[in-house]
Amino acid sequence: MTSLTLGSSLPANGSTQQPFADFLDAFKSKLQHVFQGRADIDHLGTKRGLPPFVLREIMSTNPFSAFIPAKFGGRGGLPSESMALLSAASYEALGLSLMFGINYALFVQPVAKYGQEALKTSVFRRFLQEKAMGGLMITEPDFGSDALNMQTSYTEEFGEYHIQGTKHWGGLTGWADYWLVTAREQTPERGLKRDIDFFVCDMNDPRQHIDVEEVYENLGLYMIPYGRNKIDVHVPALHKLEPESTGIKMMLDLLHRSRIQFAGMGMGFLQRMLDEALAHCKTRFVGGKSLFEFDQVQDRLSRLQASFTICSALCMHGSENGGLEQDLSGRGLEANSIKTVVTDLMQEASQSLLQLVGAKGYRLNHIAGRATVDSRPFQIFEGSNDLLYTQIAESALKLMRRDKLSNLQKFIKQYPLTLRASEAFSDLFNVELDMQLPQRKLVDLGKVVSRLVTFDMVSNLGERGFRADLIKNSLSNLRQEVNNLFCTFQSDNLTTVVDDYEENSNWFTFAR
Ligand SMILES: Cc1cc2nc3c(=O)[nH]c(=O)nc-3n(C[C@H](O)[C@H](O)[C@H](O)COP(=O)(O)OP(=O)(O)OC[C@H]3O[C@@H](n4cnc5c(N)ncnc54)[C@H](O)[C@@H]3O)c2cc1C
Repeated sequence: MTSLTLGSSLPANGSTQQPFADFLDAFKSKLQHVFQGRADIDHLGTKRGLPPFVLREIMSTNPFSAFIPAKFGGRGGLPSESMALLSAASYEALGLSLMFGINYALFVQPVAKYGQEALKTSVFRRFLQEKAMGGLMITEPDFGSDALNMQTSYTEEFGEYHIQGTKHWGGLTGWADYWLVTAREQTPERGLKRDIDFFVCDMNDPRQHIDVEEVYENLGLYMIPYGRNKIDVHVPALHKLEPESTGIKMMLDLLHRSRIQFAGMGMGFLQRMLDEALAHCKTRFVGGKSLFEFDQVQDRLSRLQASFTICSALCMHGSENGGLEQDLSGRGLEANSIKTVVTDLMQEASQSLLQLVGAKGYRLNHIAGRATVDSRPFQIFEGSNDLLYTQIAESALKLMRRDKLSNLQKFIKQYPLTLRASEAFSDLFNVELDMQLPQRKLVDLGKVVSRLVTFDMVSNLGERGFRADLIKNSLSNLRQEVNNLFCTFQSDNLTTVVDDYEENSNWFTFAR
């Protein structure tokens, strides 16, 4: 596969000096021109990859300049601007937004924060002038959720690093010009070290080139290539990222930063689901009435609208907390809450739109069907939601133990990210918690805590002056969800699967 370096002869277009509103408008009009004019996204969405003119046109607005620090010629890498860009992209195409999100949070931000100066100068110059792209490889065929045990290894030889291993599912497989590859140091005495290091590989250099062994037939996100890669590369010492303390802390900092900014990708997507649902329900008549008039439909639409408001609050929070100056390595509860809530909302919204649209939506060339398969993996990558919910609960319990608390209400009342929420739930959480919860209960508790954190952020958005009726509706939706989730948490259910279930379990035998 060839790497995709776009428009290397294009001059910089002054996008770094433009006021942001103009820059964003230019980007949005380009997307509309490409996806609704020159090409039809409903048609494009059924094909893998992207015709070269689509990316060339989009990249001609120099969108990645928003991600790059001013010192290296970019617009400054402000989380607010970068997230607004991700949101504009996801309104038109979720795959495009993920492609941008990968470049932003999984490549440019880590390199900007931990890269060596000379590396940054050359990499960011190519991003700006040649529209280069970068991705991140952590996952291995045998080590996904268990990434800390990855087997990709490196040794130091003659002032450079030799990295060997197999990685898969790196977004932009075969396309990216740069890869950030994770590996553990191999030492003769102690084997693989526990810590993890990050290296930038430049696909233009044959010694750093990563071979694609297999291209995957991914279920959705057709725009983005995925696959399995063989790594056997030699990279200069300059290409190693420099952690402030350990590599694992650096990894947590970068993953948490990415998760805190997930709402940028969710925002445009959720707004699109809402707009599509409203437009459809106002024009589709069933039994002589527009769908919009049915109570159940109103329930779905109001939930879609609540998702829009919730995601707006998470965006505001992310834009103020995703900056490189912050150390986010210890902020798992907050980052994991945002990631899980946004991605659950995205999947739920697409499912709801598909339900409302009916059979017409169950087509690859309809946005509802595509949105459902495109948003599903967001609940899996960058931390499977099941695991993140467990971790949210574990973090909360750890804080409770530290403060010698067992009453959930007391914790919620003193934890800074749930303060506002605690006032809204009077006595609901006035229960003593068992500190040794089974994993499924940790997941339930994690869901509750993540929604409380979200509740707090929505209240904060309301206090800043966001439209009051939208805030009121979304808080009411969240309150109901928290009540349901807490009820599930409190109910007894510890059933386990019956193995070898086939014996005496065929209904046919019992039918009279
Ligand atoms: C579309 C897509 C894009 C991706 N992009 C990237 C990328 O750019 N870079 C990259 O490095 N990787 C990427 N990934 C890989 C992704 O991060 C991994 O798929 C993810 O970490 C899960 O690993 P796994 O698939 O090996 O699943 P596994 O680790 O096998 O886990 C599968 C499931 O098992 C359950 N599970 C696992 N462990 C536990 C546990 N301890 N307790 C309870 N349940 C558990 C969870 O439900 C989990 O979802 C991408 C994946 C997809 C689908």
